Amino acid sequence: MHTSSRNTGKVHAPFIYDPERKKVWAKAALYGYDFWKKYCYVNKISFIEDGVIEVAVDAKSEKALSLHHQWGIKNGLDDTDIKILNEREISRIEPNLRCPAALLCKKDASVNYGQITQMLADQVCDKNKLVRMVTCAKVVNIKYKETSKQPIVLEYLDVLEKSKKELNCNFLINASGSNSINILNKTKIDHFYQDLFFRGEYWVAPPKYDNLTSHSIYSVPQFQQFPFLDPHWIIRSNGKREIGPNACPVLSPYGYDNLANAKEFLPKMYRLMIKKDRMVNKTLFKRELFDLVSKEALSSISKRYMINRVKRFLPIIEPKDFKIRGTAGIRSAIVDKNGNFVSYPIFILQRDILHILNYNSPGATGAFPISYAIVFKLIDKGILKKYKEDKSDTNNPFDAKLINACRNEININFACL
Ligand SMILES: Cc1cc2nc3c(=O)[nH]c(=O)nc-3n(C[C@H](O)[C@H](O)[C@H](O)COP(=O)(O)OP(=O)(O)OC[C@H]3O[C@@H](n4cnc5c(N)ncnc54)[C@H](O)[C@@H]3O)c2cc1C
Repeated sequence: MHTSSRNTGKVHAPFIYDPERKKVWAKAALYGYDFWKKYCYVNKISFIEDGVIEVAVDAKSEKALSLHHQWGIKNGLDDTDIKILNEREISRIEPNLRCPAALLCKKDASVNYGQITQMLADQVCDKNKLVRMVTCAKVVNIKYKETSKQPIVLEYLDVLEKSKKELNCNFLINASGSNSINILNKTKIDHFYQDLFFRGEYWVAPPKYDNLTSHSIYSVPQFQQFPFLDPHWIIRSNGKREIGPNACPVLSPYGYDNLANAKEFLPKMYRLMIKKDRMVNKTLFKRELFDLVSKEALSSISKRYMINRVKRFLPIIEPKDFKIRGTAGIRSAIVDKNGNFVSYPIFILQRDILHILNYNSPGATGAFPISYAIVFKLIDKGILKKYKEDKSDTNNPFDAKLINACRNEININFACL
């Protein structure tokens, strides 16, 4: 229902991730492509290998292109997958594009992550009945019952029956997306992380624009120090074209509409002014972030402003032709104790609970590799039993080489609080 079904649907190639600072994301994206390709093939789901073009709109971003080319190679892309193009080469491949230089990456694909997530859920529940999904249930509290064999008590609201219920377990993984800090806070541990929410909005292009390009087009982000890309020209896996996402600041992980944001206004202001989120103020009043936020907020209010950000490199499009909004998704960006955005996923192991925070883009691309890396780490720590490959498991389409790459190359750290 949330971010996994409300995103751009790209299987991202790892060329915008610094191989040193964002190694985990880079490797997860690299192997994520192979996992999704195989998964979609076996399950007959669309996996459109349509590639992506990153365009430079000025001299500064031209420099970024060559850096991204180097990063792509260092992160494991083959040099036949990624190439810098000059103006002539661009106009041969994409005649409607206008830019002095671009980076073409063939190893980038389009999928429908919502459809995939639904299929995965059905499959794990069907199989041997080892997994049970509890849906329409909102976790409202986490407690410890020390004397119990399964000491973690998850208190939840059964939304349909409107009653409170409990689930007991001996190990818990908090992978609740943009709401993860809220769940972490229910365990009452002291930590310094705070979250800010940004709504990524889209506009659907009319069918007459379906043949404008054969690739999705991204521009080099203007504010590269922040974890957001500029709105792009997107080809969806169903062939539709869209523009987005922007990153409009909102007040809640579910602030899709004005009512949801209005409800959060007073509590959030209280926390910002009086309570713990004071550090976030330091972030909000940084000049560059202020510039970025104003620009993104304007993109939310003014369709023309947002479409014109793409029109810079695709001049043929006209804002008046975009009449339908796409499905918006919300990311929570985590801020550390110095008021800086954290650019990587955070894993906190606290007693018998693993919290996953800041699981942002390319989170959907990297979902399988990161999940394997987490499981292997839990095995190494003796928390899970040793993994035995089940040769009779015909539902698992992945070969051992790919799975072992996740074990050996995606080195995630569990922070302990
Ligand atoms: C606009 C946008 C575009 C993006 N585009 C891409 C892209 O093209 N490619 C890519 O790889 N990544 C993309 N991402 C990132 C990617 O979508 C996310 O990293 C990923 O989907 C996060 O998955 P998740 O399971 O952590 O969160 P979610 O999919 O949000 O799942 C969290 C789940 O936790 C549940 N939950 C939360 N609180 C509670 C509670 N109290 N009780 C019970 N359940 C609870 C929610 O109901 C939800 O089902 C994009 C993100 C955004 C916002």
